[in-house]
Amino acid sequence: MREAEEWYDVIRIKDYLYIIRERLDEIDPRYLTKFTNLYLLIGTKKALLIDTGTGLYPLKPKIKELIEEKELIVINTHSHFDHRGGNEEFDEIYIHKSELGDASLIFDISFLKDSPKKRVKLFEQRNFKYQPPHTLHPLKDGDEFDLGDITVKVIHTPGHSVGSISLLTNQKDLFTGDSAHFGAMYLPKKRNFPTLLSSLAKLLDLFQESDDIEIYPSHEDFQVKKILLESLIKGINNIETIWDTKVKDKFLQAWILNDESFTYVI
Ligand SMILES: [Zn+2]
Repeated sequence: MREAEEWYDVIRIKDYLYIIRERLDEIDPRYLTKFTNLYLLIGTKKALLIDTGTGLYPLKPKIKELIEEKELIVINTHSHFDHRGGNEEFDEIYIHKSELGDASLIFDISFLKDSPKKRVKLFEQRNFKYQPPHTLHPLKDGDEFDLGDITVKVIHTPGHSVGSISLLTNQKDLFTGDSAHFGAMYLPKKRNFPTLLSSLAKLLDLFQESDDIEIYPSHEDFQVKKILLESLIKGINNIETIWDTKVKDKFLQAWILNDESFTYVI
């Protein structure tokens, strides 16, 4: 099927780094998000895939084409549906220990049935359910993966979800998952803002050692600079000043607010 062939947009960003994008708005525009970004790191010994997207179309064959016979490690930045949909195609998945329970259950995605996009009917084959992967491995802050020439370190960045992680390579690539990206940022309840803010501060601290880190978020723009973290921290700290402008989103069951850099979903 032509659409399946063309669904993933694969771009080689660096020798060892690919971005694999899918259009979340073409699955369900009600999420106010255009792109989901998956990333593939290919080291001299092993490869590492960051997230598996919605799994609407087969992902594994695309990855195999790129890594050939290399051993593959698959990580979820967190357990939300748009990051774990392809998990069942892979035997083993790594996820932060606090979301291991969620990721080990069958996940119901019937909320997509009312999407205005007809292609979600493809999920009918799977009864609008994600099956868990065969094996799950827990991650914790400070864990490291050795891909040969590239090493990848796990940074626990709770806030967007309790087990959200970011990943930093020895090549100064920082993958922030849904903890920081431009576009529609899904924030926790206000009482949990301090958790997210301290995670964002932890990420911003990394720039003290090397100012030339590049950020690769799981949605929207990629290869962005630390201004993303700075504007997000500022925006969250200023939410009270725009609180009166909030509007209710019935589908998301959340408040929507905007400033010059972000849409906030709370
Ligand atoms: Zn997401």
